[in-house]
Amino acid sequence: MPAPPRAEPPGLYFSHPACLEHDPRVHMPEHPDTPERLLAIERALTAVDWLGWERREAPPATEAELELVHGAGLVERIRGLARAGGGAIDADTFVGEPSFRAALHAAGGACAMTRALLAGEARVAFCGVRPSGHHAEPDRAMGFCLFNNVAVAAALATRERGARRVFVLDWDVHHGNGTAEAFRRRADVLFASIHQAGIYPGTGPLSDVGSGAGEGYTINLPVPAGSEEELWLSLLEHVVLPAAGEFAPDLVLVSAGFDAHRLDPLAGCRLETESFAELARHVRDFASRLDVPLGLVLEGGYEPTVLGECVRETLAALGAP
Ligand SMILES: [Zn+2]
Repeated sequence: MPAPPRAEPPGLYFSHPACLEHDPRVHMPEHPDTPERLLAIERALTAVDWLGWERREAPPATEAELELVHGAGLVERIRGLARAGGGAIDADTFVGEPSFRAALHAAGGACAMTRALLAGEARVAFCGVRPSGHHAEPDRAMGFCLFNNVAVAAALATRERGARRVFVLDWDVHHGNGTAEAFRRRADVLFASIHQAGIYPGTGPLSDVGSGAGEGYTINLPVPAGSEEELWLSLLEHVVLPAAGEFAPDLVLVSAGFDAHRLDPLAGCRLETESFAELARHVRDFASRLDVPLGLVLEGGYEPTVLGECVRETLAALGAP
């Protein structure tokens, strides 16, 4: 009897132990971006046998990959700070001795995920990596972010892997200013961000729609403090996804922050854990309709237990038949 064919895993999960070594608490003891965030995700997923997802090791990004988005000067500065034992980039962004290596694996995970998706190895994938990326601008690290993982992945897709158009959705509660800056003048990357108005980093008004050749390819949807699932889903369903459908991307990437949760200590939106599963279902159905792959990259989410549950529910929704 031939062995039965192995069931396809519902998705691919990329991470690397180096991502646990970046710890801003060395410089600021009360810093909310802790390794415990990733550990909580891993515990929540281990308890459900990783939902059948295939785990892959995130390789380090190459300098050439980083420089698809970032200036060589920024890469050198982060490397130099780490080599020198670490230091502050700004009031809440820190580099420790292991941080450069962590950031390489975070961006490299997003690149490996993108390669796997565009090679047809899976329809859905998630990068459980840190430090986060969406605040990192081409020439400036900021907001806990060193390199812009999702932007590097989108640039790799368009510049080297044959994607004509990439749609990047940012559902982190903070505006993805770094991703917006990376692609503000480009028409081959549609960037859409739903974020709480009036909080860090203060960018992303509705009126900012991109510039030059990229005008109309940036969608900023600030929402008031206290916004609940109904508003977030409505904006996704009635504004973001119709525009993304017109754009007809070859790849969908998500800056998946979970800090719009009502229990998150850094912001004031009121999503429930199940709300993220709903967001994920909408985006998954959208990608399925277009028959294009979907990759998520972890951004914020600062109550570790809640974060673990949110990621578990998100992956369950993404992988459901
Ligand atoms: Zn955030």
